[in-house]
Amino acid sequence: MPQRRIVLAGLAAAPFLPIADMCCGGHLVGSAFAQSGEISVQPDTLTTSMGDVVIQPINHATFTLTFGKEIVLFDPVGGAARYAKLKKPTAIMVTHAHPDHFDVPTLEALAGPTTPLIVPEVVYTALSDRLKKQATVVANGGTGTIAGVPFSAIPMYNTTPDRLKYHVKGVGNGYVLSIGDKKVYADGDTEDIPEIRALTGIDVAFLPMNIPYTQTGEQAAAAAKAFKPKVAYPYHYGKDGPEPAKFAAAMQGFDGVEVRQRDWYA
Ligand code: ZN
Ligand code: ZN
Repeated sequence: MPQRRIVLAGLAAAPFLPIADMCCGGHLVGSAFAQSGEISVQPDTLTTSMGDVVIQPINHATFTLTFGKEIVLFDPVGGAARYAKLKKPTAIMVTHAHPDHFDVPTLEALAGPTTPLIVPEVVYTALSDRLKKQATVVANGGTGTIAGVPFSAIPMYNTTPDRLKYHVKGVGNGYVLSIGDKKVYADGDTEDIPEIRALTGIDVAFLPMNIPYTQTGEQAAAAAKAFKPKVAYPYHYGKDGPEPAKFAAAMQGFDGVEVRQRDWYA
């Protein structure tokens, strides 16, 4: 079988982060994360022209979108046990190679022999040979189809001078999925950038907020007020992280964006 490696959009010579520049530190990957396979966060439902989409937060930056027979899993890490009580995904999307987003043993356990993966180049190069055959590389600005629905890859990067080392422009992808008449956006690890402000028609957005690796709650709120997702989930904020409360406070009184705080570290 030929290696399935399609570059969907002009892949620039993206600078790769040295592995030491982890975005969230090892302290977040481990005991603070649910390991039992019990997912205690209640799911939410998004009504679309293709039927309902069930949104299930799992942990930190990991969640699933379930619609029809499809289960799209984002940034699975933490080992197979965490997913023991969940159905296997039908597709997997990975934003970037930091260990709180990407873990080969977890992917090996969850990806069946034909499960497609959508990944940036930096993740592709670190995959096992088996998973490389199932992976499609997409660069910032690229588009494609996953689980029968269109997606596009959005840049994710830092802009604050002392945070530039964490996420370099061009390395990782956020993803917008168009499911029927609704658009769901997983930001990945980013700050408030022009490419996010330019998005329109987003129904559900997952916004990272932790310092120093991504952005403050106030920055996330400034972005949300610009691109106006109908629903905004703070995620990737670290156990007991303070940014979601700042985000919610900054969004207070702003019409048209529902702030949906969930305990992603239960
Ligand atoms: Zn991260
Ligand atoms: Zn990161």
